[in-house]
Amino acid sequence: MPTYPRLFQPLQAGSVMLKNRIVMGSMHTRLESEADGSARAAAFYAERARGGVGLIITGGYSPDAAGLLEADSGALDHPDKIAEHRVVTAAVHAAGGLICLQILHAGRYAKHDGLVGASDIPSPINRRRPRALSTAEVERTIESFAACAALAREAGYDGVEIMGSEGYLISQFTATRTNTRSDQYGGSLANRLRFALDVVRATRARVGTGFLILFRMSALDLVEGGLNAEETLQLARALEAAGVDVLDTGIGWHEARVPTIGYMVPRAAWRNATARIKSAVSIPVIATNRINTPELAEALLAQGVADLVSLARPLLADAEFARKAEQGRADEINTCVACNQACLDYLFRNQVASCLVNPRACHETLYPVGKAARAKRVAVVGAGAAGLSCAITAFERGHSVTLYEAQADIGGQLNLAKQVPGKEFTETLRYFRTRLANSSVQLKTGRRIGARELAQGGYDAVVLASGVRPRLPEIPGIDHPKVLRYDEVLSGAKVPGRRVAIIGAGGIGFDVAEYLSQPPGAAGISEFLASWGVDPKGMGDGGLVAPGSLELPRSIVMLQRKSGVPGKGLGATTGWAIRMQLARRGIPVLSGVSYQRIDDRGLHILHEGQAKLLEVDHVILCAGQEPVNALRAELVAEGIAATLIGGAERAEEIDALRAMQQGMQLAYSL
Ligand code: NAP
Ligand code: SF4
Repeated sequence: MPTYPRLFQPLQAGSVMLKNRIVMGSMHTRLESEADGSARAAAFYAERARGGVGLIITGGYSPDAAGLLEADSGALDHPDKIAEHRVVTAAVHAAGGLICLQILHAGRYAKHDGLVGASDIPSPINRRRPRALSTAEVERTIESFAACAALAREAGYDGVEIMGSEGYLISQFTATRTNTRSDQYGGSLANRLRFALDVVRATRARVGTGFLILFRMSALDLVEGGLNAEETLQLARALEAAGVDVLDTGIGWHEARVPTIGYMVPRAAWRNATARIKSAVSIPVIATNRINTPELAEALLAQGVADLVSLARPLLADAEFARKAEQGRADEINTCVACNQACLDYLFRNQVASCLVNPRACHETLYPVGKAARAKRVAVVGAGAAGLSCAITAFERGHSVTLYEAQADIGGQLNLAKQVPGKEFTETLRYFRTRLANSSVQLKTGRRIGARELAQGGYDAVVLASGVRPRLPEIPGIDHPKVLRYDEVLSGAKVPGRRVAIIGAGGIGFDVAEYLSQPPGAAGISEFLASWGVDPKGMGDGGLVAPGSLELPRSIVMLQRKSGVPGKGLGATTGWAIRMQLARRGIPVLSGVSYQRIDDRGLHILHEGQAKLLEVDHVILCAGQEPVNALRAELVAEGIAATLIGGAERAEEIDALRAMQQGMQLAYSL
């Protein structure tokens, strides 16, 4: 009996037989903007096809110039572009996979001056005002969707997915929030749904029945003036009648003030919204968002929530997710931890997407699988994020690796990060443990290795990934018993009292505030939905209700010396939710403070020109870190050159992302 029988049951979807229930969801990668973009995209998708996924959906391609997300985003609007797409479809088919092109018209989310919308109402997340499409232009846009699908068929795709969620153009037609038209595409619900349905009908008419049409509909809009549950079901039924083969789902418009995919969202939080759609139609339905393990995917299928599961980021994290699950090797899966740090946050910074736990993602051609020209004996000192990444990659490259760790266990700072609510680094550590166990890397824990011993080891290369220690700021009273370090708190070694001041409002300061302010039971789906004002039955406008109130375990104040916005360095796509969550919990951040002293009464500060006393039980230090790398000088004295990576090289702004990237890159350079 296979471990996940439902996940690996074939499914007839329209004219296509899918070999399993795992769909690789659409993700922007920015590869289309790279000079060698087609070759890189082909390698990226083909690796996932070889990894056993049932169906791949590409990132979004616009059907016309107005619908481009950005001026240099991908469009499939001319036969000239077919050749570059054939490179991708041929590679995926050669690898045994199926691939659909996503057609995405950005509407008022477009970041160029030619943007258009259902009406001329700008989005709160885009400073540009869209021009309202005339009725004739709406009809031309419908036609461009159909033409794009026909070009996709010529380019070798197995079907198309019409992007009708997340607040892009099609959503903008459905919602009163963005549609104030007075023609046949505005006003009544039937009129507002017309654009979506006309796009589907025109596309079906153009491509015939032998070509898959998926439609990604918004299962929950999560914005005021969005559709409610009943209207959403009407749309689902109408889409089925119009000729859609498979209904994919999306959650929340991009401008929604509810986090939908970040680590603070519980796994499978949106299952009810998907299940409602599944119960309303007879075509296959795809569940999405925060599904990152085969166990959970199997459970959702078993419970009848959906017929297929969409994994997007989890397939960035591990191209072989499906194959490993099918072969009962789920413990080898490199699990997406929903951090957004290298996928969505990179896109916001105009970089090609990648993955924190898998820095090869989208860079497959730059870091090809294979052995180094000469196998070397390599010592890696430190089994935190940087050292683990380096040691495992070096082993894969054919080197003989010894990994030294002073602590009894691997993980370094990941052992602290995994304590923060929602941060899934326990999975990352499980992955590395399995990889180490299945490799010939010699792991030596529980003893600090010295320079002399390393020198005697006869290594060809020594890598120091010895990490960081917390910075202890020079404040009078820093050795007072009220003072705790962040590592003591997150490790559970010390438990702070009910009144707490946090020195430092960087990433770790916010992590500690989150850890200490988590209300009891807040990790559950219903508590999450209530705290963010989401109606579990989706009945409200856009599926929203008033947020519930919270009972907090302690009072917390955060402090920083600089006067700028607190938490500025947090990720672009998660930082707003972290800040909002802590603000909702009534946690103030005082900026521009100067620390005077810590004594029995609490923390004395100067703030806005006044001396103030914060009467707290504990002061927690989250004031950054310093590198731990004294071993390097000792090695130099022994005549050994060592390479520093991760926090040992530079403690400023060190996080798991930079650590893992550096670890992998160094291993490739050996
Ligand atoms: P950080 O983000 O650089 O923050 C350090 C904090 O300490 C700042 O608020 C700084 O603010 C304060 N500080 C620095 N020197 C100080 C001193 N001598 N006395 C008092 N305060 C001092 O570093 P981190 O919080 O340790 O995080 C490490 C890295 O991990 C960062 O790159 C961070 O972005 C990342 N990280 C990110 C996340 C996330 O995105 N969710 C979570 C955890 C960690 P002032 O100088 O203004 O006082
Ligand atoms: Fe997942 Fe983070 Fe990787 Fe994005 S960067 S795919 S969220 S682990």
